[in-house]
Amino acid sequence: MSISNTNDNESQKKHIAIIGSTGSIGVQALNVIRRHPDQYSVEVLTANTNAELLIAQAIEFQPNTVVIVDKDKYPQVQQALSEHDIKVFAGEKSLSDVMEMNSIDTVLTAVVGFAGLTPTLRAIEYGKTIALANKETMVVAGEIVTKLATQKNVPILPVDSEHSAIFQSIVGEWHNPIEKILLTASGGPFFGKDRNFLKTVTVDDALHHPNWSMGKKITIDSATLMNKGLEIIEAKWLFDVAPEQIEVVVHPQSIVHSLVQFRDGSVKAQLGLPNMELPIHYALSYPMRHADSTPRLSFADYPTLTFAQPDPDTFTCLALAYQAIEKGGNMPCIMNAANEIAVSAFLKGQISFLDIADTIAAAMAKNTFIAKPSLDDLLQTDKETRISTLNNIKTI
Ligand code: NAD
Ligand code: MG
Repeated sequence: MSISNTNDNESQKKHIAIIGSTGSIGVQALNVIRRHPDQYSVEVLTANTNAELLIAQAIEFQPNTVVIVDKDKYPQVQQALSEHDIKVFAGEKSLSDVMEMNSIDTVLTAVVGFAGLTPTLRAIEYGKTIALANKETMVVAGEIVTKLATQKNVPILPVDSEHSAIFQSIVGEWHNPIEKILLTASGGPFFGKDRNFLKTVTVDDALHHPNWSMGKKITIDSATLMNKGLEIIEAKWLFDVAPEQIEVVVHPQSIVHSLVQFRDGSVKAQLGLPNMELPIHYALSYPMRHADSTPRLSFADYPTLTFAQPDPDTFTCLALAYQAIEKGGNMPCIMNAANEIAVSAFLKGQISFLDIADTIAAAMAKNTFIAKPSLDDLLQTDKETRISTLNNIKTI
């Protein structure tokens, strides 16, 4: 028997669709694919509004199909790609419809926010492996998504660095239940600060993440710690654990990406430099690891790794996320929609940093609770919460 680490056969290439290819995760995924043309080919690229970057990516990677969600940008994309053998579609519906393409093996969900839910479900329905970056999908509809994935026998491979670390720690441990997940958090730019300090922080301050360069929404989520709240819910569904089995540990250096404790007391972790290309690559290459030139971790550069407790009295979004998952039903969906609206309002300078958590708490107290929501209920919950949160923000 010969064991080979490389797929040198064209037919063994994985055919990848990247939804949200023009964002931070999308661009980094294309960096990985650019380094491994023998392993991956790009089938689909999509963008919300950034036509220029989508066109440039399409010309370089020659996908079968591109989708620009903003219909006004369709003529520009169509025109620019007219001499290439690339199909161009526009609109939200096309984003989901292209998920049915036979030629796609894996869909990397790199869209931000609730918009990722419908195309992800369609991809699962059509049997595509999911490389999941879009954590909001799991937050709002984790039960529906995981049930469908089990039914369709579709793997959901985490891209989020913490969840990738957890996954890498349990590979080969399938028969050993997880006792506890230790979910690491950098603490964001305001780690160690109190509420008094947070009263006056600006958008620029909040966008200044110490370790990671990411899209604006997740960067603000990291500053409020809502990102960690979303990740607790994401971990619950991905790894089938109870919320009380997930402990958040603040680790400002972002080297230990998360840990898993087993019932004999052993703790396994995955470490690496804070570089999303590694977890993106693992989700695409799993179960293999392909040689790659990403920078290596040197402990000489990190003589001190520190760990601390989070401060839920200052960063109340963390407590809101635990409340939402304890309550269940459509509550995480309410929390997520209110957060998306509040973050967008903060980025526009309409509300203050501390108003974000207050706005979410108000939505969770006010919006109609549904214990066993259908997908339609969740779509409706998302819509209603957005409207009521926008109205609430007008009164601030
Ligand atoms: P981003 O804002 O940089 O990119 C978002 C992408 O989604 C863009 O391509 C944009 O065109 C597309 N998009 C935005 N709104 C859309 C809509 N309504 N419909 C269709 N497409 C839309 O975001 P990002 O930082 O790359 O994050 C993407 C997802 O990955 C998020 O869910 C985030 O939480 C998760 N994630 C990101 C990182 C990171 O390092 N950036 C790390 C872990 C997880
Ligand atoms: Mg993360």
